[in-house]
Amino acid sequence: MQRIRGVVLPEGEPRDLYLVAGRISYQPAGSATDVGSGWIMPGLVDAHCHIGLDENGPVDEAEQERQALAERAAGMLLARDAGSAADTRWIDQRDDLPRIIRAGRHLARTGRYLRNYGIELEPPGLPAAAAEQAGRGDGWVKIVADWIDRGRGDLTPCWPADVLAAAAAKAQAAGARVTVHTFDEQGVADAIAAGVDCVEHGTGLSEQLIDTMAARGTALVPTLINIANFPEIADRAAAKFPGYAEHMRRLHASAPSRVAMAYEAGVPIFAGTDAGGAVRHGRIAEEVFALHAAGLPAEAALGAASWAARSWLGRPGLDEGASADLVVYPGDPRTDLRVLADPSRVVLRGRIVL
Ligand SMILES: [Zn+2]
Repeated sequence: MQRIRGVVLPEGEPRDLYLVAGRISYQPAGSATDVGSGWIMPGLVDAHCHIGLDENGPVDEAEQERQALAERAAGMLLARDAGSAADTRWIDQRDDLPRIIRAGRHLARTGRYLRNYGIELEPPGLPAAAAEQAGRGDGWVKIVADWIDRGRGDLTPCWPADVLAAAAAKAQAAGARVTVHTFDEQGVADAIAAGVDCVEHGTGLSEQLIDTMAARGTALVPTLINIANFPEIADRAAAKFPGYAEHMRRLHASAPSRVAMAYEAGVPIFAGTDAGGAVRHGRIAEEVFALHAAGLPAEAALGAASWAARSWLGRPGLDEGASADLVVYPGDPRTDLRVLADPSRVVLRGRIVL
């Protein structure tokens, strides 16, 4: 039996935590070896993470493993995969790699998303495709709600609003929760009207839409460290699509205040890095810093990447008998978030992996 002594979060109680056959116990039974001490948090969650993707599309299993290990070293032990073109199911057979909750493949409008990422469709095919992906993922379906329309030179919704609503209803009837990629004001308005369960990025949210999300419990995953790339995207696009570039800069500038507004309104906010596209893997701590900088109190920013996200995804925290998926820090992350960047211990399924 192995023991970790410390302060267990989020309760903040000093406790001795035991690792027994891969599970957490607070009941000492016989002699224990000390394997760590400090502030103990439920394993970190990246609520928007693409294991299996890089900027060009799907990657092979060796690269998937490198991505998963980079996440694990950062204490990220549970990923909500917000769409992957690669089959990563083999990872579920590996006890030493993080857990993944999948959303199947991105559903995108033809020619209106990153190349090689999604299943590209025209509107009549979307509802059936959403039902099909509901059966392929682990309880989530991901739809790209808006993207640049090169003919118009700006972001526009990818789907007629009634088609998006029909697709969301189909996926939900099949037992999945629905999330949408959205940057645009109209795109996110259509998505909220469609009754989606979660909004990714959400840079186009208005105060009124935020109030609707809060009333319904619709979640927001702002992916702030990816939105930090908007000015660069705008610079690259400016010559050909000046209106789009200006729009992206405007959305970038207002992103932190929008996140603060959503937090104050009571929208559930979770930490997602969007790793796997323009963002490299293993940066969950930076997203927590960014959420805090936008206005979330330190404890809320921590919960957004740990206990609150786990509960939202139906996974336990540091409960008696739960799988021992946890991270230990040398200092109190509630008073100094910077300790998140350097965990002193990472334990996955009771195995010390760092
Ligand atoms: Zn993404």
